[in-house]
Amino acid sequence: MFIGHFAVAYLLLALFPSVPPLVLLIGVSLPDLLWPILVFCGVEKVEVDPVSPLVKDVSFLHYPYSHSLAIGGLIACLLGGVVAYLFTPLAGALFIAAAISHWLLDLVMHKQDLPVLGFGSGDKKLGYGLWNNPRAAFAFEFLLYVVVTVIVMPIGLIVPLLILGTVFHLLNANSFFGFTPRRAGHSPKVDAAMALIGFIAFIVLANTVILYAWF
Ligand SMILES: [Zn+2]
Repeated sequence: MFIGHFAVAYLLLALFPSVPPLVLLIGVSLPDLLWPILVFCGVEKVEVDPVSPLVKDVSFLHYPYSHSLAIGGLIACLLGGVVAYLFTPLAGALFIAAAISHWLLDLVMHKQDLPVLGFGSGDKKLGYGLWNNPRAAFAFEFLLYVVVTVIVMPIGLIVPLLILGTVFHLLNANSFFGFTPRRAGHSPKVDAAMALIGFIAFIVLANTVILYAWF
């Protein structure tokens, strides 16, 4: 999931407007900022199908640090401690909540590859696999983003954030529907780089829009 995660950031920002938006935007993105870096470092392992551009054909074989509930949650807590120190305890707590919301929303979309603990031979992997139904997945993610944005954001932010979300969701459409017969790159590192660039670009743009139009 991509833009859908940011709906949670907007909701938390509307409830707690004193928290810097960047904290929440990075919080909801944390697992998807970590896995590309960990793939580059060889710590996490992803395989891609070179003849399919679909996100459902990306196999997250080993990603216990970025995408397990337990270890990922622990990393979020450690970073949340840093956020609490730098900003406020509330900002730290919301950073942790935002990061954990990422796992819960990924649970809806992913196939059964999300680890619960991230360690141990008896660990469970979960995922309800909405990505297997591309139209439903595409619509669910877009509607989540649009409905939350319209309900919770101040009036002046709704249109710019809807434009931003729509553009990025359309840029991501090929990974739902497979318009192109092949994947852009043949290496998981290309996917990792594209995911990282996409999330950073969205965070920077959304943060700029929110700071410019709200404060
Ligand atoms: Zn994710």
